[in-house]
Amino acid sequence: MNWFKKKKTTASTDGDETDEKVSTPENKKGKLSLTSKIFIGLIAGAIFGIVLNYCVPGGYVKDTIIVGGVLYIIGQGFIRLMQMLVVPLVFCSLVCGAMSIGDTKKLGTVGVRTLIFYLCTTALAIVVALFMANLINPGIGLDMASVNKVASTTTESIQKTSMSDTLLNIIPTNIFNGLAEGNMLQIILFALILGVILAKLGDRVDVVAKFFSQCNDIMMEMTLMVMKLAPIGVFCLIGKTFATIGFSAFVPLGKYMVAVLIALAIQCFIVYQILLKLFTGLNPIIFIRNFFPVMAFAFSTATSNSTIPLSIDTLATKMGVSRRVSSFTIPLGATINMDGTAIMQGVAVVFVAQAFGIHLTPMDYATVIGTATLASIGTAGIPSVGLITLTMVFNSIGLPVEGIALIMGIDRILDMARTAVNITGDAVCTTIVANMEGAVDREVFNTSLIEHNDKL
Ligand code: ASP
Repeated sequence: MNWFKKKKTTASTDGDETDEKVSTPENKKGKLSLTSKIFIGLIAGAIFGIVLNYCVPGGYVKDTIIVGGVLYIIGQGFIRLMQMLVVPLVFCSLVCGAMSIGDTKKLGTVGVRTLIFYLCTTALAIVVALFMANLINPGIGLDMASVNKVASTTTESIQKTSMSDTLLNIIPTNIFNGLAEGNMLQIILFALILGVILAKLGDRVDVVAKFFSQCNDIMMEMTLMVMKLAPIGVFCLIGKTFATIGFSAFVPLGKYMVAVLIALAIQCFIVYQILLKLFTGLNPIIFIRNFFPVMAFAFSTATSNSTIPLSIDTLATKMGVSRRVSSFTIPLGATINMDGTAIMQGVAVVFVAQAFGIHLTPMDYATVIGTATLASIGTAGIPSVGLITLTMVFNSIGLPVEGIALIMGIDRILDMARTAVNITGDAVCTTIVANMEGAVDREVFNTSLIEHNDKL
């Protein structure tokens, strides 16, 4: 179908464009990259906050003008800008994601198998994340409820809604109401149905499909623009946190990072490799060694889209995976399969719930697995979008979105790591599906091992 062909090219072009937009400024000599600026904002904000907390006596200037005024206004302003992106970004991205999914039918078994693998690995990733977060308990010891008094009211209102009403409430009676209220589950449902229908109607609705695809590009561009303000936003958010709670914020944030990184490592080096061995019998060590340069590239750009060409090429030349399969599954994966992002979201849910003293029920965990899997479909393969779609995961179980401010400051490094996992997940699923289709040249895959042994 035309649209999908276009979509595929858009995805790779997007990737290149995004990559250009993301990396060009980073490559200019003498100019600091956005990542470095965010790190500087983070460190400077933490130092500023600590100095305010321990060295400046409380009073009107410190409490009202600096902490409650400048830091609060700029920090919240940045969060509001990110929230502004949520509904249109998730809506457009999900419509486009669902259009690609709807299209998988046309690709027969490859499409369906890929889709099943993508969804299952994402759900598995969230389970790993929730398990790890509950083991490390990153948010315990951080009393955010006293800094932000929004938590209790939010949970109370959530608990008052019965289970059947919660389920029924997923179906919008008026989608415009749902959009205006930012009811993410309603928006997701409507967007998925719309996307699948657009794919089904094919050329008859080419203009509308193109409209959503272009809106998606616009929203990605807007996200990149907002992210340019991240260094200042991060400075103010982290500054206010440390000015209010001092050193006690260090350990929980460190534990949060460790929990995310361990869960990412488990998913990447254990879960994926077991799946690869089980389904293909191929050697996971060779896979990791050959794919490592692509992971490093994803890590440095924090952009799944930009790795599409390199990923397809590496899979073909170093691992014998047919381009016939990968040229479909890799762009699809960069659009809808974000296991690393889902892991960050799973850990973030537990972290923020603990920090705000909110008890999560088994139903909450089940909702998180569902919404984070959908959020993964709705996450565009560019930097920081995972944080934006995290809002919808928080909303689904009534966690305060203010909690995102806590982790925003340290998100960049995690974004880099999770992007590497996102694209590794795409590559592993692609290799498995290609192997099922008899589209992996094992000789090519194993040659690198022989070459390696020869060198020894
Ligand atoms: N940066 C991620 C990616 O491109 C998306 C995210 O989690 O923000 O895959």
